[in-house]
Amino acid sequence: NEFEDYFLKRELLMGIYEKGFEKPSPIQEESIPIALTGSDILARAKNGTGKTAAFCIPALEKIDQDKNAIQVVILVPTRELALQTSQVCKELGKHLKIQVMVTTGGTSLKDDIVRLYQPVHLLVGTPGRVLDLTKKGICILKDCSMLIMDEADKLLSPEFQPSVEHLIRYLPSSRQILMFSATFPVTVKAFKDKYLPKPYVINL
Ligand code: AMP
Repeated sequence: NEFEDYFLKRELLMGIYEKGFEKPSPIQEESIPIALTGSDILARAKNGTGKTAAFCIPALEKIDQDKNAIQVVILVPTRELALQTSQVCKELGKHLKIQVMVTTGGTSLKDDIVRLYQPVHLLVGTPGRVLDLTKKGICILKDCSMLIMDEADKLLSPEFQPSVEHLIRYLPSSRQILMFSATFPVTVKAFKDKYLPKPYVINL
């Protein structure tokens, strides 16, 4: 397989090649075309498999940069991972005009509120802060048709799970969920049964 096979936007393809990716990794080969069809995905994937690009590429492809709205949210359990993930999105999307924002606990809420007055297409953040901004009506998710959960096992720990579930209620009913997790504890299975009843399962 080749990245050309997915009929991606030319600017996105340029970003992929400039990052030095020549061919899709196995997880990308499965997740990119399926995610582009709009299907939910449940993927068992470790770090180092190329999983970040496996969800960032379809996210960047699906965003309409002429529409001023948050169209994708990527939830992660830590600030460090949020920063790394947004960096990957910015690099892959270097030739697109997609605005990426990071929002996590432990930083100024006021700064995030100010930032959200500017266009944001893709939001990467930790569940508590994203929920906080959403409840305040500052982060608007009515056009967010894609939710990505990286390290889903951690996102479904008691610390985060209530926020994740609460956040899902703000998404449109047509939402698509892409879930990536290294392990599949019962919490992940229960969440899957409730929110992604018929996902495409990737098990590498
Ligand atoms: P990840 O599993 O997302 O942490 O990615 C692991 C490493 O693989 C990162 O350094 C990526 O930049 C790199 N990578 C991801 N996809 C590809 C690809 N298709 N070709 C070459 N390197 C890749």
